[in-house]
Amino acid sequence: MRIVLLGAPGSGKGTQSQRLVKRFGIPQISTGDLLRSAVARGTPLGVAAKQAMQAGKLVEDAIVLGMIRERLAEADAAQGFILDGFPRNLVQARALDEMLSELGRPLTHVVQLDVPYAELTRRISGRRNCPSCGAVYNIYSMPVGGQLHCSACDAKPPLVQRPDDNEATVVERLKVYESQTRPLIDYYAASGMLQFIDAQGDIDEITALLTHVLTAAPVEGVKVRRAGKKRKAKAKSKVKAKKKGKAKSKAKAKSKAKAKSKAKSKTNVKTKVKVRVKVKTKAKAKAKAKAKAKTKAKRAGRKTAKRRAKRPARKGRARR
Ligand SMILES: [Zn+2]
Repeated sequence: MRIVLLGAPGSGKGTQSQRLVKRFGIPQISTGDLLRSAVARGTPLGVAAKQAMQAGKLVEDAIVLGMIRERLAEADAAQGFILDGFPRNLVQARALDEMLSELGRPLTHVVQLDVPYAELTRRISGRRNCPSCGAVYNIYSMPVGGQLHCSACDAKPPLVQRPDDNEATVVERLKVYESQTRPLIDYYAASGMLQFIDAQGDIDEITALLTHVLTAAPVEGVKVRRAGKKRKAKAKSKVKAKKKGKAKSKAKAKSKAKAKSKAKSKTNVKTKVKVRVKVKTKAKAKAKAKAKAKTKAKRAGRKTAKRRAKRPARKGRARR
């Protein structure tokens, strides 16, 4: 299982990655951690990275890729890995694919955690940290009138907001994400590997959905081996379908028909298609509704906003 998780800041990538580590016993490979470790250990790549950073430059992709390659050679990564924080752009994605195919260990899953921007903004700007133990809270998921103090520390220190987590910075971070990382989605969609998950709401439910997507038979993979060209065309039409709401039902019908012809993988195909298509539609509608609700709520005051935000968002979502 060789996984890339995609998702904007605040999409819950980190939390879900940690859960996958426990569930599947494969390491989460964070490029940030790799960099820090290599620099601290003074490896050749670490030294090169340090020089770049000291010169105020970005660490080159080649250096980061080299670190990933070294990390993949370690025993715990033999069964797979979850890449975290890489690739961030199209150039990196291509370089990664190249390296992994050289190693004979191509990616098996790319999953995009979808969360509407209004929700992302809320999640990040609501974040509060304990200055003492580092515990992370969110004012929007705390009980109304709850104390903004760390409940884990005896001294109950007041929670603080990281300078990066204010609303203005968040908008900027999301813009950067949009411009650099979004093209990745098209890239991986064309490879037929990409799957979407509605990553709003209950963390456990999202983990269950993610686990399901990762353990279900690799439908697209089967087609890759059988008919490369056809698959590519299909992936393209899927991307289009996503953009065009009307094309969705068509794509769904097509996929369903194909699924029927394969008795064995029938269930998986159906579920997957259902998840993908339904989730997409719902996410869009929800995003709109939420954005609307937020504007209204802002006028009505914070209390209302909290109540609205707590409204069960998961109802009717596609499940297995
Ligand atoms: Zn604390």
